[in-house]
Parts: sequence; C-alpha cells; structure tokens
Amino acid sequence: MELKLPPELVVEMEAIYTAMAAGYDTVAEAIGLTCDQCPDNCCDSWFLHYTYSEWAYLWLGLAQLDPARLETICQRASEYVHLSQQALAADTRPQTMCPLNEAGRCQLYHHRLMICRSHGVPATLTSPNGRRQRFPGCFRCQEMVHARYSPPELAPAMERTALLRRLVQVEQQLLGAGRAQYPKIRLSIAEMIVQGPPQRHDG
Ligand code: SF4
Ligand code: SF4
Repeated sequence: MELKLPPELVVEMEAIYTAMAAGYDTVAEAIGLTCDQCPDNCCDSWFLHYTYSEWAYLWLGLAQLDPARLETICQRASEYVHLSQQALAADTRPQTMCPLNEAGRCQLYHHRLMICRSHGVPATLTSPNGRRQRFPGCFRCQEMVHARYSPPELAPAMERTALLRRLVQVEQQLLGAGRAQYPKIRLSIAEMIVQGPPQRHDG
C-alpha cells in the first residue's frame, strides 16, 4: 500500500519549503547570487535523498501529470539510473541531467526536493551530536564570496538546522510507531521516480 502524506503533513512540508525559500532568498540577495546566466546547471549534480516524506511529496506532484508526460519522465529516469550505475561502477561521480529537467527548467518545481531548494548559498548546520558544519555554496557563490568577504566565513549563511529538524519531525509522524520496519533510504530523484511512490512497510 502506498505511503501517503496526510493533509496536515502536506501543509507542514509546504511550510518548511516556504521557510527554506525565504532563507535562501535572503542570503542570495545579500551576497548578490542569482542563477541567471550561470554557465552551470546544478540539476546534473549527483545528490541522494534520505526521507520518505520528500519521496512522497515528490510523488504528489508526479501523480498530477498526465500519463504520457509521466511515462516520458519515467523513461528518462530509467536512463538516468542506468548511467549513474555505470558511473558508480567505474568509481566516478555520476553527472547526468535530472529527468525532471527540460530545457534547463525543473518541470516539478513546486515538488522539488530540499537539496534542490538549498543548494547554492552558504549554509550552516548543527548536527544532533553538536557538530557545527558550514557549507560554502556553489562554485559561483564561492567566487562571489571570496571577492567580497575576508575571511569568507564572514559571508551570510542560511541556517538549515531548524528546517531539517522540522523535516525529521514530519518523517517521524509519517512513519509512525512502525518506523523501525522501514529500511533506510539513499535514493536519487531518478530512483524515486523509477521505484514509484513509497510503500508502507508497517503491515
Ligand atoms: S546554484 Fe550556483 S552553480 Fe548552480 S545554477 Fe545557481 S548559480 Fe549556478
Ligand atoms: S527536481 Fe528539479 S530542481 Fe531538483 S534536480 Fe531535478 S530538475 Fe533540478
């Protein structure tokens, strides 16, 4: 049986994503970063995703597509999975355009995943064990930061900790008391598409 986000968790996912967009925009504006005219397109970056919540939210969007369009995306996703497996087998980092990207644009923009929404600007994160991490942002952002801030750590950064905690809470509520029965996941977006919507594992 499909694992679906109940309405109250859909609302919370949207609130988390909205807060993330606001945090991103504030930092990007302060630094002067935009993706306009960028020679890169980050949608070919190799990212893995770890929550059933984001998988289910992605499928909320996919399920609204007309069948022919979904079939086209599924075919691209299969090809992506094949190419990424080849790259990993050759001990190289996969670099293939996301199956949801067409002509440089995300076709499921409102259902894209958290890393798609946060990649680019510098970010900070405190792990549950108290370890503090700072991520420098994309290559273009790093160029801008190094030109304007010395040391670069003085540049503003998006604080991810509270948002990730909220996502963890959504995940716990979604999986509920049976969450120990759910295997841990490490999936690319293409794998989330090819495998179909997440399924229940708690009987
Ligand atoms: S996130 Fe950075 S590297 Fe990626 S498209 Fe935007 S500006 Fe370019
Ligand atoms: S889901 Fe959208 S934003 Fe994220 S990598 Fe794919 S095309 Fe890009």
